[in-house]
Amino acid sequence: APSKSHNYRIASIPADGIGPEVVSAAIEVVNKLAQTMKTFKIEFTHIPWGTDYYKKHGRYVDENVLDVLRGYDASLFGSVGAPDVPDHISLWGLLLAIRGPLQLYANVRPVRTFPGTQSPLRSAKASDIDWLLVRENSEGEYAGHGGRSHVGQPWETATEVAIFTRVGIERIMRFAFTAASTRPKRHLTVVTKSNSLRYGLVLWDEIALSVSKDFPSVTWDKMLVDAMTIRMVQNPASLDVIVGTNLHMDILSDLAAALAGSIGVAPSSNLDPTRKNPSLFEPVHGSAFDITGKGVANPVATFWSAAEMLGWLGEEEAKEKLMRAVENVCEKGILTKDLGGTAMTKDVTKAVCDEIERLG
Ligand code: ATP
Ligand code: MG
Repeated sequence: APSKSHNYRIASIPADGIGPEVVSAAIEVVNKLAQTMKTFKIEFTHIPWGTDYYKKHGRYVDENVLDVLRGYDASLFGSVGAPDVPDHISLWGLLLAIRGPLQLYANVRPVRTFPGTQSPLRSAKASDIDWLLVRENSEGEYAGHGGRSHVGQPWETATEVAIFTRVGIERIMRFAFTAASTRPKRHLTVVTKSNSLRYGLVLWDEIALSVSKDFPSVTWDKMLVDAMTIRMVQNPASLDVIVGTNLHMDILSDLAAALAGSIGVAPSSNLDPTRKNPSLFEPVHGSAFDITGKGVANPVATFWSAAEMLGWLGEEEAKEKLMRAVENVCEKGILTKDLGGTAMTKDVTKAVCDEIERLG
């Protein structure tokens, strides 16, 4: 919950791969922001969960993970995954071990093209891509239901059961309509696949229609997920807020990030909109082992995630200042390799700190 004292305690969970590089960069810029603005105080506490922790303790997180995180106002997370641990072990061991029990059911991913950077879409103007992706974060294909039988036999069978509940769909749909109602275009696109998935996604469609009645100011439409990929490429300006299932939005948000310029700038907020539990903020990208330790990771996705965190805590002005600093630095052409530049992580970090100081 936002603390009236403007005094925040943040759990920092850098974890694996480039996570520690981008999280420490983000802590640096947020500390600079706090020192310069003097309107809030923030203290980061390092939590060593991740693959090294797993190798030592046989588990990715502390046994009382929820009690630990409930001692903070929010968490800033890096990325999880290592080359020598199967991805499903690390992902379920850390990130999904937090998202589910804390009921961080709304995963919010703003996407836009920064000044000084370019969409790979030749025809797109910078302003064409300005989206807010809302990913259902607690059920669907990621609910963890399923299993394997006849292991090792030719007739071995695995099931992956997608779970959709009225409560789960309704709360994310309300969240998405509410988000759309606060944006200039006031438009929502509901992504489904209700032609072939005839139970869960038909329920999804029905609930979209009923919730829409409570939001007369929002225009909305429905897209099948396959057709949606075409629309994102061919008519990006027709989109505003987009809501979809856990799996669909996982995929569409990588596409969205790439269309906006790079996955290296894409932020995400894992929110408990009821504010009972502290929310978690993280870049969309993964641990990126191909560039780990080289000092070239783009820290902007984590800067933007930290800005979203500040906004969620109630520090709107700090959020705006951080985003302006990042935009100004991009506009000057201080860009990492993924955005076509030659700057290192530390160059971008220093430039953003300097810009924060200049903005005052
Ligand atoms: P995950 O399974 O955790 O989503 P992934 O294997 O899908 O991870 P990512 O780590 O997201 O992969 O990286 C995909 C590609 O994008 C990699 O080639 C990586 O180098 C690049 N990339 C990811 N994050 C960044 C970043 N912050 N800066 C620059 N390049 C990045
Ligand atoms: Mg990925």
